[in-house]
Amino acid sequence: MKGPIPVDQTRDRAGDIRSSEPMIDSSTRVAHDPHDDRHQGAVVMPIYQNSLFTFATYEEFDLASTGTEDIAVYSRGHNPTVRQLEQRLAQLQGGGKARCFASGMAAISTAILSNVRAGDHIICIDQVYGPTRELLTHFLTRYGVETSFVDGTSLEAFQAAVRPNTKLVYLESPTTLTFRLQDLRACADLARSIGAVTIIDNTWATPVFQNPFQYGIDFVVHSISKYIGGHSDIVGGVLIGSAERISRINAGEYLLLGGIMTPQSASLTMRGLRTLPLRLEKLEQSGLTVARFLEGLPFVRKVNHPGLPSHPQHELAKKQMSGSSSLFSFETDLPAAEMKAWADRLGYFRIGVSWGGHESLVTVGRLGPGYESVTGSLVRLYVGLENPSDLIEDIIQASAGLPV
Ligand SMILES: *Cc1c(COP(=O)(O)O)cnc(C)c1O
Repeated sequence: MKGPIPVDQTRDRAGDIRSSEPMIDSSTRVAHDPHDDRHQGAVVMPIYQNSLFTFATYEEFDLASTGTEDIAVYSRGHNPTVRQLEQRLAQLQGGGKARCFASGMAAISTAILSNVRAGDHIICIDQVYGPTRELLTHFLTRYGVETSFVDGTSLEAFQAAVRPNTKLVYLESPTTLTFRLQDLRACADLARSIGAVTIIDNTWATPVFQNPFQYGIDFVVHSISKYIGGHSDIVGGVLIGSAERISRINAGEYLLLGGIMTPQSASLTMRGLRTLPLRLEKLEQSGLTVARFLEGLPFVRKVNHPGLPSHPQHELAKKQMSGSSSLFSFETDLPAAEMKAWADRLGYFRIGVSWGGHESLVTVGRLGPGYESVTGSLVRLYVGLENPSDLIEDIIQASAGLPV
């Protein structure tokens, strides 16, 4: 066997996700696959376009049907291409096991549904991703699960929301409109002290810049549709946790809700993953360059970017993340209509939702509950892979005529 990281030795690691992962740099992890005779040494994992898999003998079939996760029987449970991606994402994030899904929301809803039952209470941050908030308010209430939304920057707010039936604490750090953080270790400690499980949406920081397991968080979810996919051509999600916790979900909500990722999406995701650390290194620098420039513009009241010293939680950001990605926002006293006209004048920033691909994007925020503190307009920018000098020139020409 050639190569230092034989997949079969690292996969399905023991239950404790805080156990000693070998210190392998993320660039090496995503670039290097060991030689694998099962696929004739193919350097790219083949796409297993199969719904089902057959067996030479009934004895083998019976063995595979006892519920073992490691033998492919049917692609709603186990597809070898998807499984390869899951192993890679678990390694990269430092968790025991991962399961991939058709979208980030499929991963999030599976993670939440598998940890609550009727009569339970959830504490969630108030600036959580909008559809997650809707799932908690409009959907889970139908099944007798209540949620309290709290200011994620205040540990006292978490403490004050605790009820005897609190079973889950749901985090997203940083958030993706105002980029506020939660103190992950403090939240994980609080949850553990009351016997509650913790889930974090880690999409903004990616596995490259933040490892929540290090702080005692139980589950990590990502929308693969953003940085991990990285090329605006996949919708997908992943849920990562200890081997024991993920196996429980595998036998339950994962198989029963059936929101699986296709092998084609898994293959594209593995291609995107090869350059994730490389892209983020560039995107971090470009994002900071554009954010610093915006801080100097007279119509910009405030730039919300955890990597800037002006961010109120910059010290916490430096403590719990090893870098910052390239989605941020700014606030201005100019009305939203004026900022939409500004977005129309931008050439390189295209108008559209989502982020994490090659192309820079702009949206003028529609702020719902949880954003009462934001006055004026909020503009969100995603800095992509274009040269940041070109992006700054673009902002300068679009800003001509705005108050200086
Ligand atoms: C996009 C996004 C999601 C949802 O992911 P989908 O793949 O669109 O379902 C969840 N959380 C955050 C922070 C996101 O940006």
